[in-house]
Amino acid sequence: MPDLRALPSVEKLLQTRTAAELVAAYGRPLTLQAIRTALNDIRARLSRGSAVTIPKHGRMLKKAQALLEDWTTPTLLPVINATGVILHTNLGRAPLSTATRQSMEVIGHGYSTLEFNLESGKRGSRLIHAEAVLKQLTGAEAAMVVNNNASAVLLTLSALARRRKVVIARSQLVEIGGGFRIPDVMKQSGAKLVEVGTTNKVHLEDYENALEEPTALVMLAHRSNFKIIGFTEEPALKEIVRVSHAAGVPVADDLGSGTFLDTERFGLVHERTVQESLAAEADVICFSGDKLLGGPQAGIIIGRAGLIAKIKKHPLARAVRADKVCLAGVTATLMHYLKDEALREIPIWRMISTALEHIEARAKNWVKSLGQGEVIPGKSAIGGGSLPGETLPTYLLALDVPSPDRFLAKLRAQQQPVIARTENDRVLLDPRTVLPEQDGALLVTLQNTLK
Ligand SMILES: *Cc1c(COP(=O)(O)O)cnc(C)c1O
Repeated sequence: MPDLRALPSVEKLLQTRTAAELVAAYGRPLTLQAIRTALNDIRARLSRGSAVTIPKHGRMLKKAQALLEDWTTPTLLPVINATGVILHTNLGRAPLSTATRQSMEVIGHGYSTLEFNLESGKRGSRLIHAEAVLKQLTGAEAAMVVNNNASAVLLTLSALARRRKVVIARSQLVEIGGGFRIPDVMKQSGAKLVEVGTTNKVHLEDYENALEEPTALVMLAHRSNFKIIGFTEEPALKEIVRVSHAAGVPVADDLGSGTFLDTERFGLVHERTVQESLAAEADVICFSGDKLLGGPQAGIIIGRAGLIAKIKKHPLARAVRADKVCLAGVTATLMHYLKDEALREIPIWRMISTALEHIEARAKNWVKSLGQGEVIPGKSAIGGGSLPGETLPTYLLALDVPSPDRFLAKLRAQQQPVIARTENDRVLLDPRTVLPEQDGALLVTLQNTLK
């Protein structure tokens, strides 16, 4: 074993030019820690005998640099989504429009009128910012934005139905994903659950019978990520509202995804729109900001002024409030709907509405650039607990590689990771969910992986 005293000191290594560069990039304390760790590591290996010579200073600094890079690389990284799942929850749901990103950047950059009234110079309310555009867009009496739709539902129930009865159809007592179960959230809010109907069927009389007892709220929850098919029945929202209002009970409609656009226009099943829920006179309507709305994570609550006022006053409202960057982004996304430019400006609607020929042309371009692969017809999915089982016809790039799963892993390990899928032993990539400006980066990753 070489003499361990011959190892350089931390100070000695710190005096090198490489170390100075590391200090400039990572700061002195972290660089010191990395050099110490690198020295301890070589000391341990020399003692064990797994190293026999003292490495050059450069080698030890290289090791320190690798540690520094490892310690400072974020785990939240951008990826290219070539899975064809448009609202991929694990990949961050909706990518944001240019105007949305810009307004989030501007508001995040400096100070703002978050809770400040420019005219009076006095304190204002953060709740007004998205409210005006939501009211304009929907015609609802009042609106508010919270952290996400799960908190919108929890807050609504806590404010309107704590210790009181909430009637809900058994067929809607679903788990939405990530362990978010409608019945658990209802219990968490302190509301008393009154389940009506059976798993597949609920009749208007079931509601009417339940409403004979004193009730705080009738609730509807979108099934989101699954479909009941076959022998099923649920009364129309309008009918449920009619019998509830006759009993003096308000109706809350958790739309889940919350779309302003008619999904049928794009060959998908009909999804109750926000406007339709309002037209059916639901009293409180909740939906997500980052599902079919196509904006940042948020929960949106709209409805009757008196009920929204109660919700705003509840102590939980403070705990689930939206931050300024979110409010800026939600407002900018909503503006696209107000200006009738959602299909052009909101990425997920662009993906949903893209012409099939356009997708085919992109897939063919990929094949041409790569000099291999085949373009085949396939299906894209909406995902994100929206429109369960619904797909859109698409064209895919299919690659034949020796080990498809190993290939997927290699794609994920690249500088610009690409997420794809396999089917019948082939690697499949769907242009629909790849942002057009990512084509170049996607091809570089594919070329590097195919090498
Ligand atoms: C997705 C969903 C939620 C939760 O919304 P988040 O914005 O993810 O918190 C609640 N209810 C329904 C019906 C949903 O589909």
